[in-house]
Amino acid sequence: MEGKVTYSPEEDDRMIEAAFRDLMDCYLGSNHRKKVEIIERAYRFAKEAHKGIRRRSGEPYIMHPIAVAKIVLQEIGLGSTSICAALLHDVVEDTEYTVEDIEQNFGPKIAQLVEGLTKISGGIFGDRASVQAENFRKLLLTMSEDIRVVLIKMADRLHNMRTLGSMAPNKRYKIAGETLYIYAPLAHRLGLFAIKTELEDLSFKHEHPDIYEDIQKKIEATRPHRRAVYTDFALPIQAKLDELGIKYEAKARLKSVYSIYNKMENKHLPFEEVYDLYAMRIVFECDDQSKEKNMCWAIYSAITDLYQLHPTRTRDWVVTPKANGYQALHLTVMGPDGNWIEVQIRSQRMDEIAEKGFAAHWKYKIGDGDEESELNAWLKTIKDILDNPEPSAIDFLNTLKLNLFSSEIVVFTPAGEPVTLPAGATVLDLAFALHTEIGMHCIAAKVNHKLVPLQHELHSGDQAEVLTSKTQMPQAEWENHMVTAKGRTRLRQALRRSVQPTINRGNEILKEWLAAHDIPDTNMVMTKLQGIYQVGNRDELCRQIAAQEIMLGEFLIKPLRKAAAQPRQTPGIFSKLLNFGKKTEEQPTTAPAAPAEPVNPKKIYRLSTSGDGANFKLAPCCSPIPGDDVMGYIDDDGLVEIHSLDCPRAQVLKAGFGSRIVATEWDKTDDRFPAHVHIEGIDRHGILQELTYLISQTLGIDLRKLSIEASGEVFACDLWVRVRDVEVVERLCASAKNVNGVRSANRIH
Ligand code: MN
Repeated sequence: MEGKVTYSPEEDDRMIEAAFRDLMDCYLGSNHRKKVEIIERAYRFAKEAHKGIRRRSGEPYIMHPIAVAKIVLQEIGLGSTSICAALLHDVVEDTEYTVEDIEQNFGPKIAQLVEGLTKISGGIFGDRASVQAENFRKLLLTMSEDIRVVLIKMADRLHNMRTLGSMAPNKRYKIAGETLYIYAPLAHRLGLFAIKTELEDLSFKHEHPDIYEDIQKKIEATRPHRRAVYTDFALPIQAKLDELGIKYEAKARLKSVYSIYNKMENKHLPFEEVYDLYAMRIVFECDDQSKEKNMCWAIYSAITDLYQLHPTRTRDWVVTPKANGYQALHLTVMGPDGNWIEVQIRSQRMDEIAEKGFAAHWKYKIGDGDEESELNAWLKTIKDILDNPEPSAIDFLNTLKLNLFSSEIVVFTPAGEPVTLPAGATVLDLAFALHTEIGMHCIAAKVNHKLVPLQHELHSGDQAEVLTSKTQMPQAEWENHMVTAKGRTRLRQALRRSVQPTINRGNEILKEWLAAHDIPDTNMVMTKLQGIYQVGNRDELCRQIAAQEIMLGEFLIKPLRKAAAQPRQTPGIFSKLLNFGKKTEEQPTTAPAAPAEPVNPKKIYRLSTSGDGANFKLAPCCSPIPGDDVMGYIDDDGLVEIHSLDCPRAQVLKAGFGSRIVATEWDKTDDRFPAHVHIEGIDRHGILQELTYLISQTLGIDLRKLSIEASGEVFACDLWVRVRDVEVVERLCASAKNVNGVRSANRIH
């Protein structure tokens, strides 16, 4: 962590000047037009505006905009307009200058960018769900107006993440959570691969400093061996490419710490068994874009002459680029040490697009911007969604996020037109992607000439023809079979059009009934009523009333009057979102004592189980135990709920309820906490007795439940134990692995 340092004014000035000089040197070395004067002016303007203000680290504030401008230039590849906007990005937000001042000094374009950045400052998420969704909507709107706003915002977030060390821990979790939840997927979607990876790694580093350091040390320690294997593998390929007279650069690309960790967690592997730690990348020179494809395949064929090809892992992103613009030819071959190695083949142009995303696209733009069509199509999707206000903004946030994350498939119409869809897309998604009319009336499809139902999942390479019928009407339950935000939005729109008159009628009935019984029409009353009938929103409630599926009766009067009198706002739709992934069967958790005084999120909260019982409750979704990296969330009753930092629900909490997050520390405790361990191995007589003896007798661990499944020679065994902390679980796993026949033993989260 960086401490606070203060410098003398002369030292400050020297440091600032040096940083700006460095920026200008970079700029002059780039192939942008040299608009030095306006950049220097923007710099002096911002420096003057932020004069005397320091960042938390103690640095003069202006160091931040300079750093952001450098990222904008060097890592995203934008030019003078964006550099100026980056230098000025916090001026309107933090000082007395206005957008008009910026416009007078620097013209309308830069002023517009700064205004866009000011609008979406202060994080995407506020503390209230509505604010959060509203800000996100704004971000996407500005994005579809001028994508540079979002690109500069990315640079701003990246620099904030790089300097996160000087923030208070609870703020750190909030920012890191937000970054993982929205910014990293957005960076991915915009094709900013390097930035996405760094954002993920930095978030991970701040949430799990120990694991991060551990993995990094192991990467360091295995470097010599890795290098030897790589050299063995690469030399023959290089010799062959030289022979063919191809000019290229070859390098080993190591997986990021975050992706190594993910693989370890998801596959329950120790570091040593994550074998595909690196990929080889070959970037070749090619002046003629029309020859790129042939060169890719020439290199492909040279490599497959030398090594065994993995039959199902070749990916051709050259002919059909990913929606974020990524192009390359990927193949996986067996390396000399028997492990699979991925090789990525790209031209220099493709490489630049892969690293810098769409900014690089503009550089290579030819003709009337054909290459941008994919991005434009995506931005248009966002506009489509924004143009149709959803009943629930959070739903919208969620579907959109799903679409940010997903990988893609490409299917083809009977005419051979490619259609890019997110993985998991169904016939319904395809139908609505083609046209709302086709979606509304579709009855089935022919996929690869075979008849399939609407919910049939499509796969890359499918040839699909949607069949329609005039008599078909859209149905609400179709939404359960769709993954695209666009499709769902179009379906809901179509449904709303057809049910709106019914809803209006129901709304009239409801209003009259409330008035007749002297009950005010407030949010609290609606929440209560929706709760009683288990419906998600007012429209649905009204529809059911009009359809006489719900009868408003006397028995409602009392609870509704009570709800109207209640002062506190219950979290409505947002708490529903937070409940995803929550198990219905709750595990026994320590009963929390009500806190004597309100929890202070600014202080590190000590988790104690002594005295009157625990001062926290364990989240049932991730069941953390002492020693895990955890955080606390102050719930509606003021109690501290403990989540593992990786828990998907915690991600949402961090991103959405920053002010309720507390940093925590485990106190010494004698209490026992539930943990789940999974063991796999080769079955032999007596192995189960040996394991249970080891656990309960030798280690003295409280074994609560055990299930075992054997198929053929292999067995898998699940144990539920109660332990004091992580160390006990680790000891259990290590000892279990020493039992003859056991191949793996891991804690399951
Ligand atoms: Mn900033």
